[in-house]
Amino acid sequence: MCGIIGYVGESPAQPRLVDGLQKLEYRGYDSAGIALADEALSVFKQAGLVGDIDLPAGATQTRGIGHTRWSTHGKPTDANAHPHTDCTGTVAVVHNGIVGNYDDLRRDLPGHEFTSETDTEVVAHLIEAELERTPDLREAVTAVVERIDGSYALGVVAAGYDAIVAARRSSPLVVGYGDDGNFIASDVTPLLSHTRSVSYLEDGDVARIAHGGVEIWNDGQTVDRPIHTIEWDATAAEKGGYDHYMLKEIYEQPQALRQAIAGRIDPVEKRADLNLSLPETFLNRIDEIQLVACGTSYHACLYGKQLIETLSDVRATVEFASEYTVGSGRNPERTLVVGVSQSGETADTLRALRTARRTGIRTIGVTNTVGSTVARECDEALYIQAGPEIGVAATKTFGSQVVTLGTLALTIADTRNELNPTVGRELCENLQDLPGAVQQVLDHDSTVEEVAREYADGTAFFFIGRRLASPVALEGALKLKEISYDHAEGFPAGELKHGPLALVTDDTPVIAILTDGARPDETKNNVKEVQSRGAPVIAVTSGGREGDHDIGFEVPDLGLLEPLVANVYLQLFAYHVAHSKGRSIDRPRNLAKSVTVE
Ligand code: GLU
Repeated sequence: MCGIIGYVGESPAQPRLVDGLQKLEYRGYDSAGIALADEALSVFKQAGLVGDIDLPAGATQTRGIGHTRWSTHGKPTDANAHPHTDCTGTVAVVHNGIVGNYDDLRRDLPGHEFTSETDTEVVAHLIEAELERTPDLREAVTAVVERIDGSYALGVVAAGYDAIVAARRSSPLVVGYGDDGNFIASDVTPLLSHTRSVSYLEDGDVARIAHGGVEIWNDGQTVDRPIHTIEWDATAAEKGGYDHYMLKEIYEQPQALRQAIAGRIDPVEKRADLNLSLPETFLNRIDEIQLVACGTSYHACLYGKQLIETLSDVRATVEFASEYTVGSGRNPERTLVVGVSQSGETADTLRALRTARRTGIRTIGVTNTVGSTVARECDEALYIQAGPEIGVAATKTFGSQVVTLGTLALTIADTRNELNPTVGRELCENLQDLPGAVQQVLDHDSTVEEVAREYADGTAFFFIGRRLASPVALEGALKLKEISYDHAEGFPAGELKHGPLALVTDDTPVIAILTDGARPDETKNNVKEVQSRGAPVIAVTSGGREGDHDIGFEVPDLGLLEPLVANVYLQLFAYHVAHSKGRSIDRPRNLAKSVTVE
């Protein structure tokens, strides 16, 4: 949430900042702004998109910071847009996170004039006050962050100070080492066109980013942060001819799914092996796997839980990360917590994982982002290897998360000698066939588009499925509401009659998943129930199952993975409903990618 970019080097900063912000806009798009510094400071900012900022032509400053905002404190107005400045107009600050004690801090600054409603602005004024004590911006920022309660990634520039100062606690910040200068950014996507070499700042780090080099301090000592090479291809984060990132990412799924199992399934033996570093003795004695996540990743965990319990004798539970507590009666020696987060920076998931670690529970982080906080802090990082996902509504990462959890389930069951060889072999074969099956669904895109246009005017949409299709029903509804703003809800199909059926009318299309792994025969009864109330039914079926539904889409036979393939129809359906209504598909209202605040 929120995009930060900073550049200091030998080239004009403005085009680098603007290009970077455009690539970061998926993290927040309430307002945008940049500050350019040399011996003076110039700030340009306003509500709206990066492209709306009124910028000077030919600005020559070679140092600056930029921000795209996802508001937490204060409306998305020009005044609340970042960068925020101090009273002298010589210090500019961009911030991701929440300064929890901003009210108290403001009270400690009598005589300072505030021009915004944000929590962030106080940081600029605190730095101003510190600069009366020391001329060193890095020292001033260090003193200020010690007084902040809450989370922050900060980028600071000041007139006459030849470096950017950056600091982080609980909000991501990356340093990029380029040929013509150095960068800071919220994530690596804006850096890919300039450099592959990055370091990840850690909590408590304060860094001085100059053209000549980068120095990092933590707790008063200078520290080294390793330099990583990013493998992602720069074009992977571009739209590549598609109307929207979301559609591109839906279409990238066959490739992403191939990458998710690459090197993890033996094609001859049909066995999965994740080469976990967690000791075998530990895997043998665990009696519970707790899966924690939010949003789409939470739905992936609901699918993963069922795979774990199908393949092994371990109990698996799923909790919203924001609600997680270890729970009574858990023995840390016998519990494993798996946190799933696309960005690896989701604040709620990080909090849950830290809660588990504090009680001595071992953790695995399942993430798409190499070097992310989840990956660094967990005992083991499992990368889903989906490539960059820019669309705010997650699509390709859902399937890749399920597949990664599936290979984890296979590995753990195998290690514990609990895996039925036939079931294990079949799932490995299904995982190998999954990319092809997803491609077959994508080949029906134009039919899904027609159906979506026909039903787009429904007053509400209900998604139903049982067992493995139940999380897919939840995910299908989430996708639709995220990008079309229609009322959509997903239910385990059996639950419909216990209340939600009251909402079903001939204006509420019901999307039913009737594949293997989803108890289709029982769900057919629920289809009848909604049809009796006049609702049109769009069904996703397999195995040539007949039914009375109004529209039927078919997925290839793929055992436990059929509901996962069905999900691709639901993604396309959501996309086309939203597209037919002219919605802002890659930048849905009120949302942003990578939710780094609790
Ligand atoms: N809390 C700050 C604000 O509302 C920063 C939000 C963000 O991370 O974009 O301006």
